[in-house]
Amino acid sequence: LLSPELARAEHLIREIPGYPQPGILFRDITPLLADGQAFGATVAALIEPFAGEFDVIAGVEARGFLLASAAAIAAGTGVVPVRKAGKLPQPAAAIDYALEYGTATIEMHADLEAGTRVLLIDDVLATGGTVAAALELLERLGYPVCGTAVLFEIDGLGGRERIGHHPLHTVFGS
Ligand code: AMP
Repeated sequence: LLSPELARAEHLIREIPGYPQPGILFRDITPLLADGQAFGATVAALIEPFAGEFDVIAGVEARGFLLASAAAIAAGTGVVPVRKAGKLPQPAAAIDYALEYGTATIEMHADLEAGTRVLLIDDVLATGGTVAAALELLERLGYPVCGTAVLFEIDGLGGRERIGHHPLHTVFGS
C-alpha cells in the first residue's frame, strides 16, 4: 500500500489521451516533478529497495535524467546519462532497439571504473524496449546492474517480460 505522500504523488500524474499520437494514453509526470514534497517522496521510493547495492545511477534520456539526478543526490552517488544517438561526444557503445514504429539508438560513455555497480532509472516502462537496450548496453560495457527502477509500468505491453531476469522496481505499481 502507498503512503499518503506517495498516493498524493501518484494523483499528480496526469493522463493525456491522444498524445503523441491517436490511441496512446500519455502519462505526464511534470506536475509530480513540480511538487517538491511529491518529487522528494517519489525519488526516495525509487531507490529504497536498492539501498547499498549500487555505486552510480544511470538515467535514460530524457525524463529519466530528471529522476536519476535527484535520486543520485539522495543516494550520495553520481549519475551517468544513457543518451539518444549523436548526443554524447565520446560514446563507447551504442545499441539499436525496436520502437513501436521504427528503431532508435542509445549510447553511453564508459568512464566508470570496471565493476562499478549501476542502478538504472527511467520514468515509465512501456514495451520495455528502452530499458532492455540500456541494460544490454551496461552489460556490454561490463558494469554489473543491481536492477531497474521506474515510476510505473504500463500493463499489457510485455515490458516486464522483455527485461527478463533483471530485478524491476515500480513505485506506483501499474
Ligand atoms: P518503451 O516502450 O518501454 O521502450 O518506452 C519508451 C519510452 O517511452 C519510455 O522511456 C517512456 O518514457 C515513454 N513512454 C512510453 N509510453 C508512454 C506513455 N503512455 N506515457 C508516457 N510515456 C511513455
